[in-house]
Amino acid sequence: MVRPPSGPGSAQPPQMYGMPAHLPNQSMTSISPGMAPTGASVGGPSKIDPNQIPRPIPSSAVILHETRQSDQANPPPPATSDYIVSDTGNCSPRYMRCTINQIPCTADLLATSGMQLALLVQPLALPHPSEEPIQVVDFGETGPVRCSRCKGYLNPFMRFIDQGKKFICNLCGFTDETPRDYHCNLGPDGRRRDANERPELCRGSVEFVATKEYMIYKGLNFLPWPFMAVV
Ligand SMILES: [Zn+2]
Repeated sequence: MVRPPSGPGSAQPPQMYGMPAHLPNQSMTSISPGMAPTGASVGGPSKIDPNQIPRPIPSSAVILHETRQSDQANPPPPATSDYIVSDTGNCSPRYMRCTINQIPCTADLLATSGMQLALLVQPLALPHPSEEPIQVVDFGETGPVRCSRCKGYLNPFMRFIDQGKKFICNLCGFTDETPRDYHCNLGPDGRRRDANERPELCRGSVEFVATKEYMIYKGLNFLPWPFMAVV
């Protein structure tokens, strides 16, 4: 917090600014009271308005969290809250959670913000008892459909084109032929008509049944991490 100087002739009370503390002194002295952001505290001697400080809200209420709404990812509930996840297209924050909900679009912006950018990954996190289990997808002997260039797994963000005969990988942009036995026509919205019936096309997390080529340990018939597809 930076407070502008209030000299003997100043009629303005101290004000609070949301400026970074590492700004050089020259910048601090050039701030004028007219630059006060809307809603800044201007009354009383207090330098900090406690109502302006974000705090975790202690609550015993369980939050119902849909991972995706109106074709957009939903910001996750606070990590310390009790929540029930409905997987509507993005993975549960129990499995993957970013340290910040808005990711800076450039490295410079990230450095300036001073925020830590990291991803917490817990593929075997225990779900809430009221959550639906992760659905299992079995492609049979051929195994999961994957991008032939980057080996990315089929997921809700791969786009089908040419009446469903091809699909574009959302990870590397490569266009693949859709396997003949996986073909499905597209609806007027450009989605496959069977998208809502196929977990791999509408869920953020699915478990693919592994074929022999994935086997590492005898008896393991599910893809071990990192082969569980999470988007
Ligand atoms: Zn790819």
